[in-house]
Amino acid sequence: MQRFQCYIDGEFADGEARFESIDPATGAAWAEMPEAREADVNRAVEAAHRTLSAGPWSKLTATQRGKLLYKLADLVAENAQKLAELETRDTGKIIRETSAQIAYVAEYYRYYAGIADKIEGSYLPIDKPDMDVWLRREPIGVVAMVVPWNSQLFLSAVKIGPALAAGCTMVVKASEDGPAPVLEFARLIHEAGFPAGVVNIITGFGPACGAALSRHPKVDHIAFTGGPETARHVVRNSAENLASTSLELGGKSPFIVFADADLESAANAQVAGIFAATGQSCVAGSRLIVETSVKDRFLDILKAKAEAVRIGSPLDMATEVGPLATRRQRDHIEALVERSLAAGAKLVTGGTAPEGAGYYYRPTILDCDGSASPSLDEEFFGPVLSVLSFETEAEALELANNTRYGLAAGLFTRDLTRAHRLIKGIRAGIVWVNTYRAVSPIAPFGGFGLSGHGREGGMAAALDFTRTKTVWLRTSDEPIPDPFVMR
Ligand code: NAD
Repeated sequence: MQRFQCYIDGEFADGEARFESIDPATGAAWAEMPEAREADVNRAVEAAHRTLSAGPWSKLTATQRGKLLYKLADLVAENAQKLAELETRDTGKIIRETSAQIAYVAEYYRYYAGIADKIEGSYLPIDKPDMDVWLRREPIGVVAMVVPWNSQLFLSAVKIGPALAAGCTMVVKASEDGPAPVLEFARLIHEAGFPAGVVNIITGFGPACGAALSRHPKVDHIAFTGGPETARHVVRNSAENLASTSLELGGKSPFIVFADADLESAANAQVAGIFAATGQSCVAGSRLIVETSVKDRFLDILKAKAEAVRIGSPLDMATEVGPLATRRQRDHIEALVERSLAAGAKLVTGGTAPEGAGYYYRPTILDCDGSASPSLDEEFFGPVLSVLSFETEAEALELANNTRYGLAAGLFTRDLTRAHRLIKGIRAGIVWVNTYRAVSPIAPFGGFGLSGHGREGGMAAALDFTRTKTVWLRTSDEPIPDPFVMR
């Protein structure tokens, strides 16, 4: 079995314990992972804290940090295929997607490499003649990064890239499910030449590792991606260290199709939105809201596409839908489909797991019109689409916003003025019009409501890893006049 290690203070080391990682395509253990617990967490945070306050990292110029990030971007690009194979093996995400996504992860590091020496302070036009006052932008400090199992290299890159550009140090906790690609990525951090302790990479379980990390007294900021329930634990943990938080959580994103849309194109986008990555995507367009007059036609197209999807080994380039990442995840999907059918949802297609080994589940469509299906509220994080129909634009908007989440929304129409009205009315952090599931390092990403707060991607994300220091410098040589009056 392949063995992986943690990366703490510039060294590769075993954790306090070990656990087996399961290949979701077969259900068999394929690798041994290091399990970090409190002592490992403490070593990692101490290393990050030391390097930040006194180590070589604190002495590098922003341009030098940028050069290290460029080197890292090149290494990610060179090693993309190997990392993709590891992610596919450990999480079941299809190789067709992981190879493209990880090659693109390099672009995130390149983008933030360029930003490192463009983070500027500012000079204030202060209202006192004998004072110069300016803001320095300094790194926010030691950052705890906690990520879930889907797209771990991507979800860590959108944190590590801007945090390094800003001059922070960090401890990255990969998910206990499928951590192999992130642990392997540590070798690229090492090879790029980042000083010891700047980026520490560990994995372990939520209570023993994630909790110890997020409440550690020397952690200044927690960048978390995961489910809302875990986020509540993280926020409670942050009551201990009063660290700031950014939370990228789940979604129940609406996918609105008007009768005037190009239905073939919208159906392809809907397939991308719900069946790609086997639906294990926080931005999954999991609630189709379709105009009544085209509902049957659109569902026919979609059903045909769902039934034609190639289910198979995630390591095969021809496969379109691979297994879910864990048995737990498939059990959750099966149970929620069952509850939804019991609540009156009608099965259009799917609804079963194919025979054989591995955690597979068929692309599934549930017609939820006229029912109070729990599938409309609860996140599957799997290939299950819930369908509702509408008669008017106002009804479409009401249905779209009828969720506690607010991560993304898809809107399909050729009517420009209607599109503008809806863009304004939709409560979500991302609106895709006549497209879906597009991302870029240049474009911020994040949600409203239960989908969390904070944005990843774009210049603002780098600024979020900084804090300002206000400097007052008196320019007069005269003695300070009245010490009892505030200046
Ligand atoms: P999860 O919330 O169970 O776990 C996420 C991480 O939190 C894991 O590393 C886990 O070990 C850690 N954790 C668990 N308990 C903890 C605790 N008490 N303290 C600190 N850390 C703890 O999420 P998951 O099931 O792995 O992933 C699925 C969820 O992630 C879905 O809800 C999905 O929508 C969300 N997600 C969001 C985005 C986004 O960018 N908005 C992206 C991907 C996934």
